[in-house]
Amino acid sequence: MEESLITIASYDNIFEAELAKALLEESGFKVYLLNERMMGIYPTVAADMYRIELQVPSSDEESASRILESLGDESFTSELLSASGALLEGHFLLTSGKHSGNYVEKIRILQKPESAAMLCRKLAERIGKFEFDAIVGPAYGGIALAFETARILAKDFIFTQRKDEQMTIRSGFDLAAIRKVAVIEDIVTTGGSVFEVIKCMQDRGIEVVVVAALVDRSGGKVDFGISFEALLSLDIPVWDAEVCPLCAQNHELVKPGASDKKPVH
Ligand SMILES: [Zn+2]
Repeated sequence: MEESLITIASYDNIFEAELAKALLEESGFKVYLLNERMMGIYPTVAADMYRIELQVPSSDEESASRILESLGDESFTSELLSASGALLEGHFLLTSGKHSGNYVEKIRILQKPESAAMLCRKLAERIGKFEFDAIVGPAYGGIALAFETARILAKDFIFTQRKDEQMTIRSGFDLAAIRKVAVIEDIVTTGGSVFEVIKCMQDRGIEVVVVAALVDRSGGKVDFGISFEALLSLDIPVWDAEVCPLCAQNHELVKPGASDKKPVH
């Protein structure tokens, strides 16, 4: 006898549904998506009429639901970044000269706008409780994320860029009604450019009330002196070449971002 299926979650976005399905399948569950086909054929019409239902055999209802509930921003983000090819594993030469076994290829995040938009929804949820007039993104990585998050929250969007070594607000924006802002960055490592943005805003009498990022690579060490929301916190170990365990194992060293990804030695 076929076991009956039960809906444990529903989504209005096929990518989010597929992600949840993949995670549950990794945990050994049988998972079915309902209405998925309808969404594919009539994306604009169906989005209003149907949601994608995620179903599991009724005997799995409790355990599968628990896994979905525990699917916090951290695992959601790391799964999505891995799927986008943004979280790389290997043996990398960083611009600092140090070596690492992991690398965040941040441009890959923006290469999949649908995934990037899903991450922006998470960012919007995290900063929605704060009061601000606009969202600021530092060029270039922060621009698309700040724009999309501002769109979701119906706020203004502005961006900053470095001009003659100085972080400045792109000229032409009307700042008259902007008193408070949120700053959105893709990856925070030392927080350098975010600190520059905060200073740039302060110089114009604009208060930064919250900073948000997709990934905090400092592993929670950065302190902006205001609220900092990161979807994913990573503490990625880096080594000097002399003590690098991957060098010791003769792993091929790669310089990330190099267009041809050729080994450097
Ligand atoms: Zn090494």
